[in-house]
Amino acid sequence: MNAELLLRFTLSCDRAYLFAHPERELTSEEQARYDEALSQRARGVPTQYITGHQEFWGMDFIVTPAVLIPRPETEHLIEAVMKLTVEKDTSSPDSRIVDVGTGSGCIAIALAKEFPHAEIHATDISAAALDIARSNAARNQFEKRIQFHETDLLRGLAPDSFDFVVSNPPYVGEAEEDQVQLEVRKFEPRNAVFAGSTGLEVIERLVPQARIALKPEGWLLMEISGTIAERARQLLSEWRQVQITNDLQGIPRVVSAQKP
Ligand code: GLN
Repeated sequence: MNAELLLRFTLSCDRAYLFAHPERELTSEEQARYDEALSQRARGVPTQYITGHQEFWGMDFIVTPAVLIPRPETEHLIEAVMKLTVEKDTSSPDSRIVDVGTGSGCIAIALAKEFPHAEIHATDISAAALDIARSNAARNQFEKRIQFHETDLLRGLAPDSFDFVVSNPPYVGEAEEDQVQLEVRKFEPRNAVFAGSTGLEVIERLVPQARIALKPEGWLLMEISGTIAERARQLLSEWRQVQITNDLQGIPRVVSAQKP
């Protein structure tokens, strides 16, 4: 499967072309590029960093080793925001949403697509990640919809001003490093995956900052893992309507809570 994908990448062609032209031979230049892609893959480089692309929420995203590769589980976070807006009917035209630690920009851009009237902000501490997020916004025609901020979590953003704070923060603990796939450990940005020794370090800082940034009755939604679900719930013990939703594998994946 990877070999086929890398071959399509080398030839910039689709699957149909590949199967319609079994006789097609590679030129020596194509062969060299294909061999290079295969050898990178053999070293463990994720396919997405070789091809430079990943799909998320039905859109194509550019990815480089400066950003986390968007994961399908993260789509649950988008669904959770949509569910809340339907239930609470808070999809007012002036609703303000911020994606904290935007990385590739996938969350902010998916939300821009789903909420055409919302004002969307996205933050990241990494200038290199923000460059990628901006180009992803531009290539999906959302550059005018999203305001990007180079900052640590929510620092510098106005208090009492957001309806939703949404984030897929780093939540893996260094203590569980052995359980993380080698490909992730070796090739994805460390500060996008690991938060500190327990995995809760970033969420611990984000929760109080989100409380300040949210409007009264605003919502915080974060991606989490099974490992930290209960500790995340404890950090939100003063919040209202704390709810944890599982992903398709039955693993706790999204926590949502309303500002107390
Ligand atoms: N928001 C981006 C994503 O969900 C990046 C998250 C991160 O780097 N922790 O893919």
